[in-house]
Amino acid sequence: MIIDIIPCLNDNYSYLICDEETNTIAIIDPSEFSTCDKVINQNYKKLDYVLNTHHHFDHIGGNEQLKNKYNAKIFGFSGDKARIPGLDKLLVDNQEFKIGSLNFVTLFIPGHTKGHVAFYLKEENVIFTGDTLFSLGCGRVFEGTNEQMFNSLNRIKSLPEKTKIYCGHEYTQKNLEFCIKFNPNNKYLIMKKEDIAEKIKNRKPTLPSTVADEIKTNIFLRYDDLDVKKQLNLMGASDLEIFSKLRDLKDNF
Ligand code: ZN
Ligand code: FE
Repeated sequence: MIIDIIPCLNDNYSYLICDEETNTIAIIDPSEFSTCDKVINQNYKKLDYVLNTHHHFDHIGGNEQLKNKYNAKIFGFSGDKARIPGLDKLLVDNQEFKIGSLNFVTLFIPGHTKGHVAFYLKEENVIFTGDTLFSLGCGRVFEGTNEQMFNSLNRIKSLPEKTKIYCGHEYTQKNLEFCIKFNPNNKYLIMKKEDIAEKIKNRKPTLPSTVADEIKTNIFLRYDDLDVKKQLNLMGASDLEIFSKLRDLKDNF
């Protein structure tokens, strides 16, 4: 499997997946037509599928033009039929499907929106998390509840530690600042700082991350860290309360 990272718009990532065995091509979250089309044209000359994690414009912007040009089939969450342009295949939680020889599983992970899904390739140890889990952060809770988001993040957290994470935006550096502010005694954050700065300087993606890495560094997965609880002055609070407090603080960071 080849994964091409396609930077789009200001800070979005679309992902092109090529199953070399069957020459099957899919794009996850095409933010815009022209950028994605250029990559397809240069290297593949075809597109079979579009997969959408959620209905926001910066994740579906290329849907209709890509469908028209390549006759690609569009996959997305069943509940968002009215909000995802050109949707052909309606997915539900835990639904399995194939892209060529690759086995995908749909994980329903609401919170950022009511219809957000992730795409998980178990055998390849890869997950596409859209705007739910970012490297060192998580998406804003626009439509769902904090509890939904908390549960969705924990679902990703429980995957095998070597799972590679490809998310929807390059927010890593800004997220790191927030993590350091409220988890200042986490030595792994300090270790990551230079590596991230170097990649950003050279205009390289900071992705993919891994589940192991996020567990060690992403404050939204570290609601049970004593250092975090102490910084927030919430020693007796529940995990969900800590998470909700962090989400509120991040909204205004
Ligand atoms: Zn979004
Ligand atoms: Fe987005």
